[in-house]
Amino acid sequence: MQQAAPQSFDRVLSSMCTRPHPTARDAAERFLATNPGDPDTYRTVADLETRVIAGLGELTGLADPQGYVASGGTEANVQAVRAARNRADAVTPNVVVPESVHFSFQKAAEVLDVSLRTVPVDADRRADPDAMADRIDADTVLVVGVAGTTEYGRVDPIPALADLAADADARFHVDAAWGGFVLPFTDHDWHFSDAHVDTMAIDPHKFGQAAVPAGGFLAREAATLDALAVETPYLESTSQATLTGTRSGAGVASAAAALDALWPEGYRETYERAQSNAAWIADELDARGFDVVDPVLPLVAVDLPGHLFDALTERGWRLSRTARGELRLVCMPHVTRETLREFVRDLDACRDAH
Ligand SMILES: *Cc1c(COP(=O)(O)O)cnc(C)c1O
Repeated sequence: MQQAAPQSFDRVLSSMCTRPHPTARDAAERFLATNPGDPDTYRTVADLETRVIAGLGELTGLADPQGYVASGGTEANVQAVRAARNRADAVTPNVVVPESVHFSFQKAAEVLDVSLRTVPVDADRRADPDAMADRIDADTVLVVGVAGTTEYGRVDPIPALADLAADADARFHVDAAWGGFVLPFTDHDWHFSDAHVDTMAIDPHKFGQAAVPAGGFLAREAATLDALAVETPYLESTSQATLTGTRSGAGVASAAAALDALWPEGYRETYERAQSNAAWIADELDARGFDVVDPVLPLVAVDLPGHLFDALTERGWRLSRTARGELRLVCMPHVTRETLREFVRDLDACRDAH
């Protein structure tokens, strides 16, 4: 039987993941058979995890960071909700989020039995602090801001949202799962030293160029991890704060290798290239008369007729849509200017054919 091969990244414009950095791929392969969920047995990978968390702390402006390498942004978001719920004493806890949050918060709310209060965003698709304030009450355990929204790449007003949470005695979580590795090179306020952020999701397996699965869950206080810890009778280590038990050391080692290879200059170059590609494709689409949502981060949304979406998919492009139906082009590191030129050539051909 022939060996199966994964798809190529050549025409992938829909994914928030990317081709791993070569040293990150090597590290993932070397550490496949390790389990950081059992740190006393698998000590080398446990040390690498400590290094990753230190690296993520540096990247997000947090001295003495607490946290671990999660399976992804979903787990980090679920854990943020769980920690906030466990640390509060609300009888009917609620979490206040902008409507632009990732769907993982719906999973968190359902699994943890908290109610999710979803608040409309402003005209630029960012969280609206006044509207959020109206929905916060004494049972609010967590307020969430997004630094790099999944659909439009928007960055919420993090300091204003942090103030709302503080006024209500609630915790504050920033979801930077996708944006966290590009935001350090922008002038947005988004991280731990810009505002009182309690927890953050930041995924090495997206713009961090690590292999899947490598998510990041960061916390300012050790008490947050304590609120997640359960006792672990059959392991030498005495407690575990992760949601998963056995987990892949591949992601941990891969994230450590990617950070070693790329932070900060490699990530800066990646960001600059991705952002300039996003600006370029936005201009090309705009020049053709399409309605383009300007790219704040390397993600372009554009109102493209359905028949063109389908025709481009036929030609092998991997595309995705926002909830409102716009085409979303995610300019990840594997998306080169040449890829985008080819995309535009195909788009023009599809328009001519119609
Ligand atoms: C991708 C993403 C997530 C979910 O992360 P996974 O790694 O897919 O679990 C959460 N939040 C945001 C903003 C994302 O872009």
